[in-house]
Amino acid sequence: MHTAFIPGKLLLACLLVMAVMLSRPCPVPAQVLSVRHEIDVRLDLATKTLRGRDVVTAQIRDAAEIVLHLGSKVSVTKLELGGRPASYKAEDGVLRVPLPANARTGDVRLAVEYAGRFDDPWPENPHVFDNPGYGVGATITSDGAFFLAGSGWYPRLDARERSFLVTVRAPRGIYAVTSGSLIGHGDPEGESVSKWICASTPEELALFAGPFIQEMRRIGQIPVYTYFYPDSVQFSPVYLEAAARHLQFFSRLHGAYAFPKFAVVENFFPTGYGFPSFTLLGSQVLRLPFIPETSLRHEVAHCWWGNGVLVDSTGGNWSEGLTTYVADYLAKEQVSAEESVEYRRQILRDYALLAAGREDFPLRRFSSRISPASRAVGYGKAMFVFHMARRRVENRAFWQALRDVYAKRLFKPTSWEHFRDAFVAGGWDAAEAQDFFDQWLERTGAPRLRLGKVGLERMGARWTVRGELLQTEPYYDLHVPVRLQTTTFGENQLVHLSGPRAAFSFSSLDQPVGLDVDPEAHVFRQLAPEEIPVTVNSIKSAKALVAVLGGSMDEAYLPVLRLLLESLGQGGAEIIREKEVVAAALARRDVLFMGFPITDKGREAVASVQRNNWQVLEQLSQQETLALARSDAQLLAYADPERPGRVVAFFVPRPSIDMQATEEAARKITHYGKYSYLGFEKGVNTVKGIWEPQDSPLSVDFEEE
Ligand SMILES: [Zn+2]
Repeated sequence: MHTAFIPGKLLLACLLVMAVMLSRPCPVPAQVLSVRHEIDVRLDLATKTLRGRDVVTAQIRDAAEIVLHLGSKVSVTKLELGGRPASYKAEDGVLRVPLPANARTGDVRLAVEYAGRFDDPWPENPHVFDNPGYGVGATITSDGAFFLAGSGWYPRLDARERSFLVTVRAPRGIYAVTSGSLIGHGDPEGESVSKWICASTPEELALFAGPFIQEMRRIGQIPVYTYFYPDSVQFSPVYLEAAARHLQFFSRLHGAYAFPKFAVVENFFPTGYGFPSFTLLGSQVLRLPFIPETSLRHEVAHCWWGNGVLVDSTGGNWSEGLTTYVADYLAKEQVSAEESVEYRRQILRDYALLAAGREDFPLRRFSSRISPASRAVGYGKAMFVFHMARRRVENRAFWQALRDVYAKRLFKPTSWEHFRDAFVAGGWDAAEAQDFFDQWLERTGAPRLRLGKVGLERMGARWTVRGELLQTEPYYDLHVPVRLQTTTFGENQLVHLSGPRAAFSFSSLDQPVGLDVDPEAHVFRQLAPEEIPVTVNSIKSAKALVAVLGGSMDEAYLPVLRLLLESLGQGGAEIIREKEVVAAALARRDVLFMGFPITDKGREAVASVQRNNWQVLEQLSQQETLALARSDAQLLAYADPERPGRVVAFFVPRPSIDMQATEEAARKITHYGKYSYLGFEKGVNTVKGIWEPQDSPLSVDFEEE
């Protein structure tokens, strides 16, 4: 019943792709072959202002003008072409500098001086994590600065190749981090200076600055840094060790690390960003004990997939699925087979609850995570595509194909087709591979499987089991594991199903006990409702939720109930008091009850669930029962046995505890989406678990028949 919690995945979105999208240049005009930026910027934290000078050297061919992108926040104070003041046209953040007829091929040197105020609002304590972009592109605060690539901190020039020399001047003690290699940090004349060099990169640069203390270790020639605030320095050793270990792991798995350094950089609001050669983690985030083995590992893997091999955004983003597979999923597989099975099952549950239905879309159209549904498809379904491909081509060929893609496509825009072709080169039949990727990338939805009639016969000493595996339209081409369990052993078969039905049979000298279709969740499919335990995610995805402030709860709890609803993405749900309950109307809707009902009408509205309550609670171990009893706030989510699909949940704070602890619990519940029951003490989670699904249309128990 207990399963490992993967909060890294739930709590943080990795915003790699957003960074990539922002930095992706417009279609490259052939005229600019390469560009070199020598950027020197000064940060004034008090006025939130950046003043900069960028000496741009562009290698051009037949270019009548140079086009610079600065964005709307920045104005140009001086512009020189070849050392002389030059005329230019500025419109909507775009600067056009006409070139004289004799200077349209070869090297052009442009010096731009500019200034801008950067003040995007940023969230201090967000409690909705489903779309963690927050819309922050660039901001300067009293403690530092945050500039995504393309946010206007230097003039951008579309080119095939770019290199950078970056100098950042800031008040004393404020240091800056960006891509590339560190030349050095220094503190001359009352200010702090950071210098970085980025020899060649296909991407634009992001820049971050703060009161950092730098710690470092090396793996081989590669420096690994932490840039943490003074009161986070105690976490540096853990992060340096973990980052170095992950870098070594992925170097061995995929090929040598392609960047000159790796840095873990602290941010003043909660992010999990991945950038070429560094990751940006919020102060609150990096204090969570599981982050070094979850989010950090994921961000390191992006240095191979997404920031190393780039995503061709016209063909769908494969990088979150692959990164999730080699980082988050593979970590489970290394622990145990059971954990890997549970991880895959959880992805199927998430998909069924969060994405299947109206919000679903073909994987081909995934660009970045903007909602729970897009995560279930772009991370979950995509991860399964790699898992199923691995089972089709066999383990060794799979990892070799990834190594080949990495070796050939490093820093090149890459699509799903490059992976398909690498698998074909490794021996997968080309037509089969084509069909496989077509059905998983182009279609919305997932296969729906069912067991047809399964018969058991005995002839002398031998038992025969014959059965049929069924699927509804549209038909997928699948290789589905079917497992026969006998009194002494288990036997597996791979059943090839490509139309509405496929027959299978087992022959055994031992008496069959049960039969299960895909018991280890190797095939991506749409779970049947009875296979999905009711969880916090069920409340999140409830279509017609009504929240009831129970009669035992003081009116002062109303803001906590609102907070809980909002963090569950149900801020618009209707809230009523128990005395307003109309039992018959409520009995048809999904309900979140704060407290337990104390009136007849309240009890009647949730009666079918409460009748079943004790039976469900019997699934708890003694230890869990005790922990729940001791907790000062509980969340219990139930299925209604009499009304399939209906969810009834209870959030029950003990009246004697202080409001702040109740609030803490209410704020945290959303991060435990996959659990059915939760207990908190003083706002700290002490017990969590998932109800066992009651039934499966893909299992037969011969003993019951
Ligand atoms: Zn990611």
